[in-house]
Amino acid sequence: MFQQPLPQRVRVLILGGGIHGVGILHDMASRGWQDVHLIEKNTLGHGTSSRSTKLIHGGLRYLQRIHDFPLVAEALRERKVLMQVAGDLVHPLEFVFPILKSGGASRIKVKVGLSLYDFLAGRQNVGRHHRLAESEALARAPMIDPTKFSGYFSFWDCQTDDLALVRRAAHSAVKLGAGVSEWHQVAKISRANDGWLVDVVAPDGTMAQISCLYIVNAMGPWANKILESSDIEPTHKAINNKGSHLVFPDIGLKAGLFLQSPEDNRIFFVLPWLGKTLVGTTEKIFSGNPDQVVVTNDEVDYLLDHCNRYLSTPLRRENIEATFAGLRWLAVEEGFTISKTSRSHVLGAIGSGRGMMWTLYGGKLSTYRALAEEIGTKICTHFGDESRSRTTQPDVWFSDESSYSTPQDAVKRFEG
Ligand SMILES: Cc1cc2nc3c(=O)[nH]c(=O)nc-3n(C[C@H](O)[C@H](O)[C@H](O)COP(=O)(O)OP(=O)(O)OC[C@H]3O[C@@H](n4cnc5c(N)ncnc54)[C@H](O)[C@@H]3O)c2cc1C
Repeated sequence: MFQQPLPQRVRVLILGGGIHGVGILHDMASRGWQDVHLIEKNTLGHGTSSRSTKLIHGGLRYLQRIHDFPLVAEALRERKVLMQVAGDLVHPLEFVFPILKSGGASRIKVKVGLSLYDFLAGRQNVGRHHRLAESEALARAPMIDPTKFSGYFSFWDCQTDDLALVRRAAHSAVKLGAGVSEWHQVAKISRANDGWLVDVVAPDGTMAQISCLYIVNAMGPWANKILESSDIEPTHKAINNKGSHLVFPDIGLKAGLFLQSPEDNRIFFVLPWLGKTLVGTTEKIFSGNPDQVVVTNDEVDYLLDHCNRYLSTPLRRENIEATFAGLRWLAVEEGFTISKTSRSHVLGAIGSGRGMMWTLYGGKLSTYRALAEEIGTKICTHFGDESRSRTTQPDVWFSDESSYSTPQDAVKRFEG
C-alpha cells in the first residue's frame, strides 16, 4: 500500500494514480524533486490503467491517419525505452496478421502498412515484419481457421502488465522521495492567491486541505467532473470511449492475433497474457458514471461473434473467466468517428494567482513516459528549474516484488 503522510503544503500535487499520474510523479522525482505528492481515491491503477489491452505498441491501426504518424513514431521509440528500463514488464510479442479472403485490408495495403511501421520504428525496432506460410501461422495460432485467410504476415510489438507498470513507476518515485496517498479522494479544488487549495477526503471520512502551487489533473474520465463540481470551467470537452475485454483460459497461442472486422472497419486482438488468453476490444461511447463501467452482454456477443468467425475451435461464453472494461478519455475532435479520433493527448491550462493547473485529455499507456517528461518540463520551466528528466535511465527504476502479477491475479483482479 502506498501511504505517505498527506502534506499540508506541497509545490506540485498530482490528482489521479493511473499511469499518467504516477508517470509524472516519477518524472519529477527523477529530476530530484521531492516536493511532489500524488492523491488516488482507490488503489493505484484502479482506473483504465489496469483495464487496457496491455500493449506497448506504436498502434498499427493509427497509420490510417497521416496526422497520427508522429504519434506512432513516438510510441515506437517509447516501446524501446520501456523495454530498456523495465524489460521484465515490457517484452516483445510476435503478432500474426491474417489477410481475409473476403473484405478487410488487401495484402498490398497490409504490406505497405507494416513496411511503414518498420520504417517509423527505425533503429528502435524490435523485429521486422515478414510473410508467414500457412503452416507457420498455424504453428503460432493453431486454433485459426485457414479457410478464411489468403495469407499471413508476422510483425512485432510489445506487451506488458499495465498494473505492474503503474506500481513500478510509483514505487520508483517513492524511492526517490516523492509521496503517494492511496484511498484519498479529491473532493474540491479552489483557487487561492498562492495557487490552489485541494480538499481531500481521507479513508476514515475526515477532510484535509492541501495547499499547492501547481496541480496536474490526471484523473482521466473523472478530470472534468472534479472541475465542474468545483465551479471551474474545463478547457476542453471530452468523450469516454469504452473498450471491453474477455479473459479465457490459455487457448495455446504462441503469438498475438491481429484480426479485422470488415463490416465496421475495426481491428481486435486475441492475445496470450499471463498464462491466459485476452480478447478485446470494443469501442462504444460511454456517458454513464466512470465508476460503474461493466462489460455488457452485447459486448460479449460482439467479441465472441467476431472472433469465432476466424477460429476453427470457437471460444465459448461459459469459458469466460473474467471480463473488464476501461474508458478511453479523449478530447473531442469534430468530424471524426470514435475509432478515428486521435489518441494523441491534449493539455488544458488553467491559471490561479501564481499557480497553474494542467488537465490531461487522452494519452496512451505506450507514450505515458514521454508525456510525463513533457509535463515535467513544463512544471520545471514554470519554476525556472532546468533539471532534466531521467526516466530513460535504468538507475531511477526500482523493482518491487509486489508489482508482479500471476495468472490467478490476472483473473482475480477483475472479479466482481
Ligand atoms: C479498452 C482500452 C484499451 C487500451 N489499450 C491500450 C494499449 O494496449 N496500449 C496503450 O498504449 N494504451 C491503451 N489504452 C489507453 C491507456 O490505457 C490509457 O490512456 C491510460 O491507461 C490512461 O491512464 P490515466 O492515468 O490517464 O487514467 P486512469 O488510469 O483512468 O487514472 C485516473 C485515476 O484517477 C483516479 N481518480 C478519479 N477520481 C478521483 C478523485 N476524485 N480523487 C482521487 N483520484 C481520483 C482514478 O481512481 C484513477 O486511478 C487503452 C484504453 C482503453 C480504454
